[in-house]
Amino acid sequence: MTLGIVWFRQDLRLSDNAALHAALHDCERVLPVFIADDRDGTVSEIGAASRVWLHASLNALENDLKEAGSTLLVLSGDPLKLLPRLAKTLEADGVYWNRSYDPVTCERDKSVKEALHSIGANSYLANLLFEPVKTLKADGTPYRVFTPYWKNLMGSLPGEKPLAAPKNIPSPTPQWLGKQLKNTIAVDSIDELKLQPAHDWGEVMMAHWSVGEKAAQKRLKDFLKSDVQSYKVDRDIPSMTGTSMLSPHLHFGEISPRQIISATFNKRKSVFDLSPGEETFVKEVVWREFAHNLIYQFPHTVDSPLDERFNQFPWASKYDDSLKAWQQGNTGIPIVDAGMRQLYATGWMHNRVRMVVASFLIKNLLIPWQEGERWFRHTLVDADVASNAMGWQWAAGSGADAAPFFRVFNPVLQGEKFDKEGAYVRHWVPELESVANKFVHKPWELPREERDALDYAKPLVDLKKSRQAALDAFAEIKTAKS
Ligand SMILES: Cc1cc2nc3c(=O)[nH]c(=O)nc-3n(C[C@H](O)[C@H](O)[C@H](O)COP(=O)(O)OP(=O)(O)OC[C@H]3O[C@@H](n4cnc5c(N)ncnc54)[C@H](O)[C@@H]3O)c2cc1C
Repeated sequence: MTLGIVWFRQDLRLSDNAALHAALHDCERVLPVFIADDRDGTVSEIGAASRVWLHASLNALENDLKEAGSTLLVLSGDPLKLLPRLAKTLEADGVYWNRSYDPVTCERDKSVKEALHSIGANSYLANLLFEPVKTLKADGTPYRVFTPYWKNLMGSLPGEKPLAAPKNIPSPTPQWLGKQLKNTIAVDSIDELKLQPAHDWGEVMMAHWSVGEKAAQKRLKDFLKSDVQSYKVDRDIPSMTGTSMLSPHLHFGEISPRQIISATFNKRKSVFDLSPGEETFVKEVVWREFAHNLIYQFPHTVDSPLDERFNQFPWASKYDDSLKAWQQGNTGIPIVDAGMRQLYATGWMHNRVRMVVASFLIKNLLIPWQEGERWFRHTLVDADVASNAMGWQWAAGSGADAAPFFRVFNPVLQGEKFDKEGAYVRHWVPELESVANKFVHKPWELPREERDALDYAKPLVDLKKSRQAALDAFAEIKTAKS
């Protein structure tokens, strides 16, 4: 009786799961395993919001596996030690997983592969559309600019069809498993991983979401049915649900990018056959792909600038209080506070507002982008090493294809353009509920008496002066060697 171990990681789904598919093809029985691998102090240490999502996602996966006649073996510890031990104890014929591309995981997986060489380790492309190592410019160097990257890839879309979910997953019985593992490997339950916080913040946040593969498929279907056609315009309006909100599902692999692309193309053969909304949406999914390519090709950019001039950037020397005000949504700048409060309450923030709050932190408060990246990693349910680092470096002007540093978002103008009536700001900053549209993005301009009556923070900085300070700071490194 042959046995394959499928190591679930950021691919918490049964459909379009290449590793699961291959194991079922090669082996008579398949054992799905999840290993909680908390590597303290590393960039892939997951944040509080992600832990809460992971808890729910593992439960959903376990249920889906049960429906397919299987089970999920949950372990905690170092996969480098656990997997060879497990494979040896169970006399497995192979270990199967889908590849991830962040530097810590790449390094770890290389060692796991070596440790499993006598058993057989098989890894697959399933979390991206294309293999980063193969996606290079004609001269063999990695892409640093999105447009040529997109032009290179778009001809290969939609690509292969996604794999269907297996109806039945023949697995070892719990009795057999219990007997083999007895006294050798401690088995956990999902609850024993203690991913949930002690207080009820996680519960409140998760009330905004449905988690798991089925929920992800439903969200995609609903989005393609009702929102994708207006996506090109509505995606910039934070008060609307104009975007897919698939990012946490994609991050945890409850849905694959190939499934999203395939459903969006819906039998059409080329990008040129898509509507403007559909094409823009596909492009955004390819931005995610670009982020993973960057992190693979330039692993140091997880926490260091790609443009090395920024290593000398004269950041503010003391910023504890302003960082805290930003994190808590108490900067006195309405759209910034609305975004930061949306983030804390829901684990997600609208992309337009992510750009605004990032620009404000970096350029108006002169706080290193790594502080913002860290807070997002802690609080976002879609926190992703690749997309987060790319987003922050884009805002800082230090990354690939980044906004130039001298482009400082004016949060008042951004609010007035993308949240005309102030609906978004009023929703998340109820202190401003009764403020007239004209002042809702700049309450400091209200007549004195009305301003004093507001129970809302005064602006942390003067937008004009702080913008100039940022430009002066940038002038200090502008001519340095990159
Ligand atoms: C400072 C900053 C930090 C960010 N951190 C993250 C992060 O940790 N995780 C994350 O998934 N995204 C991050 N983003 C990108 C983007 O904001 C989110 O992917 C998007 O808001 C998710 O919402 P959605 O699923 O409704 O997106 P949609 O607009 O529906 O887009 C569909 C999918 O495309 C991908 N995508 C869209 N925009 C981007 C982008 N700019 N970069 C990379 N992928 C993109 C996402 O996977 C998204 O789910 C960040 C952006 C900024 C400016």
